[in-house]
Amino acid sequence: MPEGPEIKLAADQIAAVLEQQRVREVFFEQPRLAHYATELEGQKVLDVSPRGKALLISFDNNLTLYSHNQLYGVWHLCDYGQTIDTKRTLRVALHTEHHSALLFSASSIEVLDPAALADHPFLNRIGPDVLDPQLNWRDVAQRLLTPTFRRRSLASLYLDQGFLAGVGNYLRSEILFDAGMSPMLKPAQLSAGAIGALARSTLNISRRAYATAGVTNPARRARRLEREGADYEAYRFMVFGRDGLPCYGCSSNIVKIVMASRRLYYCSNCQVEPNDQ
Ligand SMILES: [Zn+2]
Repeated sequence: MPEGPEIKLAADQIAAVLEQQRVREVFFEQPRLAHYATELEGQKVLDVSPRGKALLISFDNNLTLYSHNQLYGVWHLCDYGQTIDTKRTLRVALHTEHHSALLFSASSIEVLDPAALADHPFLNRIGPDVLDPQLNWRDVAQRLLTPTFRRRSLASLYLDQGFLAGVGNYLRSEILFDAGMSPMLKPAQLSAGAIGALARSTLNISRRAYATAGVTNPARRARRLEREGADYEAYRFMVFGRDGLPCYGCSSNIVKIVMASRRLYYCSNCQVEPNDQ
């Protein structure tokens, strides 16, 4: 499943062809949405933003197109007039003068007015987007310490989209390694300084992955590994997928475990347990 950085990079590509453009033609495959086509035709797209695994496309008549790709949905971009060779069902088409943004297979599609947007059950359930530029480390620190989250293990918290949207399985391992914290720890067991460090790692590693299209290793290390012949998968991560290989911090072997039903990688030497502190 794509995580926040991959989702935001895909949204950026859609934004590049739609934002500030007027949609000339709109198509909805689902009959319940068909009447919105005429309401949206001629409107300008103001913003394209991911919210967790959903995408919001807002128009200047205050309507917002909400889509959630679930497992199968996929956006394709092409020049206006081109067709995409696929067996998938076309659900939504937004055509500007020069481009088309085509959504295939997704079934969770809605057109929302401001009140429906504010009341949307999925959007209300998820936490702030980890790649929202407005989010700062103090917000994350505060969130870690709220009663809802403070007694949960970091391993479970860092997969909960209600805590922070966009953090997924590889980011969980990479953030906890960067912060030097065991996945078994709970926020309630951490000092104020450690909470701050974890909050900063959360944003730093997520933003790094977005800026580098998925590489969480520090740039110098990634470049050195690449020079030494490592391929993308081998230089990409600090710990994720590196079980049995030496830790970049201490040379101990990286360990793979399953926590909250997903694989997690960590260094038991660099990532301290509650009773080590
Ligand atoms: Zn280590």
